[in-house]
Parts: sequence; C-alpha cells; structure tokens
Amino acid sequence: MHFPLDFYQAVLENLNHGLAFFRFIIDWDREDRAKNAELVMVNPAFTKLTGLDKEEIMDRMLPELFPGVFDSRFDGQGFLENILLESNKERLEYYAKESGKWLLLVFFSPLPGILGVALHDISELETTREEIGKSSKGIPFELEQQEEKKLFMGLSQAISRNLSQEIFSHAFCLNPTLMSITAFDESIYLDVNESFLNTLGFSRDEVIGHSCSELGILSISQKKEIQEMLLKKGKIRNWESKFIAKAGEEVPGLLSVDLIQLRDKKLLLMVFHDITERIRMKEELEEKNQQLRELNRILQVQAITDSLTGLYNHRQVLEKLQLEIARANRYQQELTIMMLDIDHFKSINDEFGHQVGDVVLVEVAQIIKRNLRNIDIAGRYGGEEFLIILPQTNLNNGRQVGERIRRQVEIEGFEDSKEGITVSIGISQHQGEEMVDYIERADQLLYRAKRKGRNRIEC
Ligand code: GH3
Ligand code: MG
Ligand code: MG
Repeated sequence: MHFPLDFYQAVLENLNHGLAFFRFIIDWDREDRAKNAELVMVNPAFTKLTGLDKEEIMDRMLPELFPGVFDSRFDGQGFLENILLESNKERLEYYAKESGKWLLLVFFSPLPGILGVALHDISELETTREEIGKSSKGIPFELEQQEEKKLFMGLSQAISRNLSQEIFSHAFCLNPTLMSITAFDESIYLDVNESFLNTLGFSRDEVIGHSCSELGILSISQKKEIQEMLLKKGKIRNWESKFIAKAGEEVPGLLSVDLIQLRDKKLLLMVFHDITERIRMKEELEEKNQQLRELNRILQVQAITDSLTGLYNHRQVLEKLQLEIARANRYQQELTIMMLDIDHFKSINDEFGHQVGDVVLVEVAQIIKRNLRNIDIAGRYGGEEFLIILPQTNLNNGRQVGERIRRQVEIEGFEDSKEGITVSIGISQHQGEEMVDYIERADQLLYRAKRKGRNRIEC
C-alpha cells in the first residue's frame, strides 16, 4: 500500500532528522566537477540542524557543507563513484561535532546520480561521543582521469530524467533509517520502507495489515512505554530501544515517533535508527582501551623493575629508600639496609661466559627474595650489587637476615664453579642521616668485608 505523493512530502516535513538530496552537475571544464552538486530538496529539520537556510545550502559545494567527508582518505572508497551511476544499497555513516552538537550523518543514494544525506542529532545520547568522534568514517574523492569519463557519461543519462517527483517517495522507501507508518489507534502497519524489511527480515506482505505486537517487533512493555510517552509529550525523540527481528534477534536503535494528521486520518510515523554498528564500534573501542590499560600496566611495571632479576631497578630502590628514611624519621622507627655484592663475579663471567653470569645473578636474587619479609624491599643497585631495605629492623636483626642470605648463597650457589659463589655484605642501621651518606656508610662496610677476605658481613 502506497500513499499519494503529498503524504510523503508531509513525512519529510515532519521528520525529526534532517534530509537533503543533491543531484550531481556535470561541468566538463571544472577540475572538481564531481564535487559540484545541486540541492534538489531539503527538509526543515536539516536547515535547523545545520543552521543554514536553503539558499545557503544551495550556494555551497559538497566539501564545504561536509568538511572532511569528501576530502580525506577513508575506507568508503568508491562510494560516491557508485552512487553516481546507480543507486547504491550501501550507506556511509559519519560522525561530526558541529557547534557543540554531535551529529550522525548518513549518506545514501535513493536514485542514480542522487546523493541523500540524513542528519541525526545524537547529542543527548549517553554513548561515548568523544570515542565515536575518534573513529569517524568518511569517503575519499579522487578519481582516475579515464574512469571519470565513463562515470560522467552514465551520470548524464541519469540526471536527464525528471527526478524531483520520484524523490519524495524514494526518500521514504530507500531512506537508510527504518520507517513505518501505522494507524494511530490499532498500530496496524500501513506502510514500511525497505530498510525496515531488510533489517527485520520480514517480507512486505507479512507486515502490512498486521500490528507490531502481533509480529513481536516491539515488546509489550516497550509498547506501553511508547504509548505513555506519546500521551505525555505527543512525540518521542531518539529513545534508546530495541526492535525484535523476525528471527528473534534484537536490533538496538533510536526510536522517534510523530503523530501525523493526513486529511481525516491520524497516523503514527515511527523512525528507527539502527545503532548495531555504533554499539559494535563502541565495544571494539572498549576492548582496545582495555588492551591499552593492560599495556600501560605492563609498562609501569617494566619502568620500575630490573628485567633480569625481577627485583626493583636502581632508580626505584632508591625511591623506596627515600620513603623508608622519611617514614623512619617521622615515626622514630628503626631502619636497616644491606649492600650486597657477589665476590669475584668477574672471574665467573670470564670462566663460564656472560650468560652463566646472568644465571648466577638470578639465583642470588631469588635467594635474597626468599629470605625477606613482605615489607622488605630488594633492588638491583648495580651490575652484581644489591641494595636491601629492612624497615622496622635494628642492626642485630638485620645481621641475622644477612647471615642467612650469605650462608644460603654459599651452600646453594652455582655448583659448577670450583670455589662456588659467595657474597660480601655491608649492613648499617639508619642514624638520621641523609640517604647519600647512609648508602655511603653501607658501601664502606661492604668494602671492608671485601678487604677482610670476602664471603662475610661487616656492620
Ligand atoms: P669483587 O669480589 O671485588 O666484587 O670482584 P668482582 O669481580 O665481583 O667485581 P668487579 O666490579 O671487578 O666485576 C664485576 C663484574 O660484573 C664486571 C661486569 O662485567 C659484571 N657484570 C655487571 N653486570 C652484569 C650482568 O648483568 N651480567 C653479567 N653476566 N655480568 C655482569
Ligand atoms: Mg663483585
Ligand atoms: Mg661490584
């Protein structure tokens, strides 16, 4: 069942989303002739959303009206070329921020040579608009010289027809947005467009003459809500809801409903913008963000960790010591540190190779870790030198920990070496001095241990 033309005109006038149609003009002398298009129709919502009146829209070329869309390289390659020759079932979505408003632009082609643009104001949606903005899509517009000829010959035939009559009914039939007209009282479908049928998987015969509850397109609770909203406000704008397709799957979208008076009939115009793709994009972005957060976390760990031993690195262990010194000063707590250095490490490297040296470093680090409490801190201070921080520990207890480590290294340390592995340790308790002086004191004690024959502790 199709309505007379004036009905579709009434639909366009009443639509809450903007609609404009452009016809391409051929001007063989112009470099950018393909971008040159003439406005054939525009509805009130379009002028309202863009803030441009009809004359201003007519005066501008497409790239001016939709900056970025026709200039940049996007993945919609070929979109415009196709619609110049034959109407294209594809549609192209583009998000833009325009004087504080978030707009969804949908480009489509109701007829060969005709470009339709639907404009939706999505500013009030709670979706992450900034993120959508980042992944905007548009279309490139660059043609090879030879292909251009073919293209424009086809086009000239297409536009020689008188199109304006057809456009109104096509605006409804081929609008990429799902549209339906129902009788106001019984919500019986009187007409639906192609997108409605394609998206929901019904044939025209299955829909026309039946009600949406009968077809299960809207749940009973959704239908009730719609009726209540209509009673209260007389119209519905971009309500996030779901249609249920014939096969049972849910189609998320934004529903707008208007009451239209056509002669003696009261009708409901339902306009539903499918946002499946947008939701998918959002999920994809969320997944990417999650990966980024994970990557960040890994990078943060890496920034403070020595990659060979897994202990804190030089910078981090010093930062920790600074904190522990401040804490010890503030709360009058005991604090002890150990400076530990592997004995004759150079000869291990020389005798067995650098890689074996690395294994020894890891083994010593593990022995250190095993012998510490949770609150103790260990870091790789230099090549084969470790700094160990023992908060709330006096010299005597610190020496016991040090002795345990020294003995375990001596016993467990690398079996292949004739002399085995040993470490020397300098231990000192904090006496209120600055960090540099404190480390220097522990260092001196370490060298005393070395001088006195190694494999021993000095404090
Ligand atoms: P001392 O008993 O006096 O400490 O003698 P040493 O040989 O252990 O001391 P020295 O400072 O002469 O040598 C340290 C060696 O540690 C030299 C350097 O090549 C080696 N080294 C430093 N970092 C690494 C590393 O990451 N892996 C390996 N395998 N060797 C390292
Ligand atoms: Mg050494
Ligand atoms: Mg050393």
